[in-house]
Amino acid sequence: MNSRFFHAFNHQLKPVFKLFLVTLVIVTSLYATYNTLMIKRLSKSIAGDFEQIYSIGRRFAQYYNNTNTTYLTKGTYTPNGVSVVVSQDTDVKILSTGINKMRSQLETIAKGYIWTIAIFEHPSNYGHFLPLRKTYEERYKDYQADDVMNRIVKLEGLENTFNQFYGCDIKLSEPYSEPGSSQMVRTVYYPVYNQKEIDALLAIDIKEGFIDAKIALFNDEFWTSMDSFAHGMTFRVPVNISCTDASPVYVGFKISTIAVRSLLPALLITLLVHLLMVLARRNQLRVCQDKMTGFYRRDFYEPRLTKLHTFSMLIIDIDFFKSINDTLGHQKGDDVIAEVTKRIASQVRGSDIAVRWGGEEFLLLFTDMEANVLSDKAEAIRDHVAKKPIAGLNVTISIGGVHLAEGSFADAYRMADDSLYKSKQNGRNQVTILTNKDKAMS
Ligand code: GH3
Ligand code: MG
Ligand code: MG
Repeated sequence: MNSRFFHAFNHQLKPVFKLFLVTLVIVTSLYATYNTLMIKRLSKSIAGDFEQIYSIGRRFAQYYNNTNTTYLTKGTYTPNGVSVVVSQDTDVKILSTGINKMRSQLETIAKGYIWTIAIFEHPSNYGHFLPLRKTYEERYKDYQADDVMNRIVKLEGLENTFNQFYGCDIKLSEPYSEPGSSQMVRTVYYPVYNQKEIDALLAIDIKEGFIDAKIALFNDEFWTSMDSFAHGMTFRVPVNISCTDASPVYVGFKISTIAVRSLLPALLITLLVHLLMVLARRNQLRVCQDKMTGFYRRDFYEPRLTKLHTFSMLIIDIDFFKSINDTLGHQKGDDVIAEVTKRIASQVRGSDIAVRWGGEEFLLLFTDMEANVLSDKAEAIRDHVAKKPIAGLNVTISIGGVHLAEGSFADAYRMADDSLYKSKQNGRNQVTILTNKDKAMS
């Protein structure tokens, strides 16, 4: 196993991955809630579409009852694109304009899903078809003998629709495969009555798939993820389509679909949040970190120091720095500061605090460090800076330290500053540490 990869994953990718999982759960929950709230609306919209189809059918019946007739002999006619199959010389109602109008009204609701419109007469001397398919022509060649209308009326139990007051005068069938064409359709049947006698039967075949197409349109419009599967849906409600004994249509959604569709948004949100966090962290660094040295800025860290009561602290100052600046220039001076602080940093742990206190003066704070250890640490730092020349110069530092078990920052700072002064007085490139004992004496 590549342990370096594992290390990188643990430290950089794992937090992002966790953030992503949390975001995914939140986005999925919110999206599922939104879909739940929209189910009712979708269900009502589908039921409403069928109501509209029904009322278009009912309107046609009025037209039917008020139209003129013309005498036609046996044969097939196609006025205005509507086919009339006449099986016996008779007076024929002129319906083609009305049928075409009805069709275009139906198309506004179920565009592309109106399969056939047919009007069967009683008695069955003729029938209207839009369009007239080859299979109908064959089936209705012997139209009268077959008496399609009576058969359907019986089969669908339509005999009594006219006297159902508040009930349904119209009926929607189960989906079925149309004989001959094998097209899956549902048919809306509307018997046209005259003096309690059936005059005709209007049949509107709607291609199966209409409801799914409606759902797809709804999904596009409202950003939902709804489906019409009858089984296995996480959340579903039946659509209350009126005037049918067909098995109910359900609409709802699967939580898995919701989760899959939440993946990309969750990923984008994760990346955005991650980016903002990186920017915030970088901004935070700018506030607290000195650019040249990588140490804390004094204005950032000083307020924290004043709250402490125990101190293992060093103040470090570069020796004769003015002359470095004067002889080599300010830029070289900066380079020396950068290198000195790099060497100091290499001698302390990440948990220790390093502050750029002044131009070439630094403050180090150690946690839980004994006086003798502090002294050794200071000596190690001094030695590490002085050991090798910097830019061809023998650069040294002087260190003043304090080990105080109890006292204020002001006490500690004064003592460390005194120690530094002593180191400078005694010839520089050396360490002086004061402790509690010295505080008592002073
Ligand atoms: P001493 O050994 O007594 O410390 O002598 P010194 O010359 O180092 O004296 P002091 O510490 O008082 O001088 C600090 C000088 O460092 C003063 C200032 O011009 C210079 N200095 C302060 N900050 C910077 C900086 O960021 N870059 C550069 N190049 N010089 C700085
Ligand atoms: Mg100096
Ligand atoms: Mg100084």
